[in-house]
Amino acid sequence: MKESEAKSDAVRRSAVRGCLIGGAVGDALGAPVEFLNRDAILESYGADGVTGYVEFGNETGAITDDTQMTLFTAEGLLRAVVRFKGKGIWDPVAVVNSAYLRWLKTQGGEVYSDHCGLDTGWLIREKQLFRQRAPGMTCIQALENNARDFRSRNNSKGCGTVMRMAPVGLLLEPEEAYEYGCRFSAITHGHPTGITAGGAFAMLIAYLFSGKKLEDALALVEHHLQTQDGSAETLAALRAARTASAPAELGEGWVAEEALAISVHCALNHQRKFEKGVLEAVNITGDSDSTGAIAGNILGVINGEEAIPEPWRRNLREYEIVSRMADNLFQRFEEDSTSGDVSREWWEKYPGF
Ligand SMILES: [Mg+2]
Repeated sequence: MKESEAKSDAVRRSAVRGCLIGGAVGDALGAPVEFLNRDAILESYGADGVTGYVEFGNETGAITDDTQMTLFTAEGLLRAVVRFKGKGIWDPVAVVNSAYLRWLKTQGGEVYSDHCGLDTGWLIREKQLFRQRAPGMTCIQALENNARDFRSRNNSKGCGTVMRMAPVGLLLEPEEAYEYGCRFSAITHGHPTGITAGGAFAMLIAYLFSGKKLEDALALVEHHLQTQDGSAETLAALRAARTASAPAELGEGWVAEEALAISVHCALNHQRKFEKGVLEAVNITGDSDSTGAIAGNILGVINGEEAIPEPWRRNLREYEIVSRMADNLFQRFEEDSTSGDVSREWWEKYPGF
């Protein structure tokens, strides 16, 4: 759990909200152009490409699976903390696996187990989350199949690992964030790069949340990766993110290490400008909603909620849900450092299983 930091409560709350809301905003900005190349984006939306919410499937400002799965990662982690507080059992992989099965249910997938509390907690009751917005088939299929040990048998390194992992870095210390970022990634993706990129992103968010500058946080993540199995591609991609002169040099972001590198590159280019950094990540040839979401997480935790343009916050369709989850993540973190027992209210919102 997080140690208390020198930063004020208000600053930390803004960072947590900035991270989650920023990711959702980037996701909603990128979703309409996910399957367009950069030339087609500029042709459709003008010389600057997308500069705000544009229509996608008859609506604007709506999140996709990236934010849905981020919310269920957060839910699972909070339920793991509640389980630990209430029962003394620290078993986050099983509890987060169950959270992903609840997400699978929202997407109409076939859920193999009825022991995971499918209808419990507040998040699964949010009907807005049941909409299908191009969910990643790797995640769907892996969750339908991996009934035994919470490890996918596929060999995928799709970016579905990285794009959902920000909450891990908001709740856990950096090294623990890496470990669990990897283990939560392995629930759906079997390739080492998919797994280590998810861990690296969780660790990066943890360092940024602790107040490290982006360059310093990156150096620490790279240093850690040097000692970790299966991390060669992730490490190489992060190094390339520093030196690339354009996002296109880093790939298209369909795979995990590329999505991470593109997002980091855009954040490095515009560290104090949420709007510019996220739009650069969105207006690429490639997986625009995921790179928008990841860049939004990074720039949001660095700059706080206030740095996100107000109309983007106001017009985000799932604002209330994302906002509530961010506040719960922040509250839980605060409670951890002080009190013991779990209140009835918390147990009902986040049952410990
Ligand atoms: Mg998506």
